Amino acid sequence: MSQIRVGVGYDVHAFAEGRRLVLGGVEIPSDRGLLGHSDADVLVHALMDAILGAMRAGDIGQHFPDTDPEYEGCCSIDLLERVGGLMREAGWRLADADTVLVLESPRVSPYREAMRSEMARALGVEVDHVGVKATTTEGLGAIGRGLGVAAQAVVILERD
Ligand code: MG
Repeated sequence: MSQIRVGVGYDVHAFAEGRRLVLGGVEIPSDRGLLGHSDADVLVHALMDAILGAMRAGDIGQHFPDTDPEYEGCCSIDLLERVGGLMREAGWRLADADTVLVLESPRVSPYREAMRSEMARALGVEVDHVGVKATTTEGLGAIGRGLGVAAQAVVILERD
C-alpha cells in the first residue's frame, strides 16, 4: 500500500520600493518588489511549506531561519530545490501541486508557464505536475489595496 499525504502552504509578503519582484522563480518587470529576508518569492515559499507540511517535516522557518545570513537575499528557488532533495531522501515523490497567487498588479499571466517550468525544474518533476493560477481580491483588503502579494499551495506526496 502506498502512502499518500496532502500539504498546504500559505504566505504573504508586502510590496516595497527598490526590490526585485520574483514570483515562482521568475523575475517579473515591476516598479517595486516584495520585502523579505530572502528574495521574498511568496509563491515558492507557499509551495515549500506545502511540501514540508505533507512530509510532516516542520516549515520553512525551521529549515531556513530568516535570522541566518546564508539566506539573506537568496534565491528561494534554490531552497525549493533543497526541499525537493529532502522530499526524495525521505522516499516521497510529488504526485501533484497546485498554487494560486493573490495580487492586484502587475499582471502575472504572461509569466505563468515560466513559473510552472521553473518550479518543476527545481523539484525535478514534469511541468504537468505543477499548476499556477492568479486571482485578485476585487480591491478588498490589504492585498486588494495593492500592499502585498499572498500565495497558497496544495501538494500531494506519495511514498511506496
Ligand atoms: Mg515568506
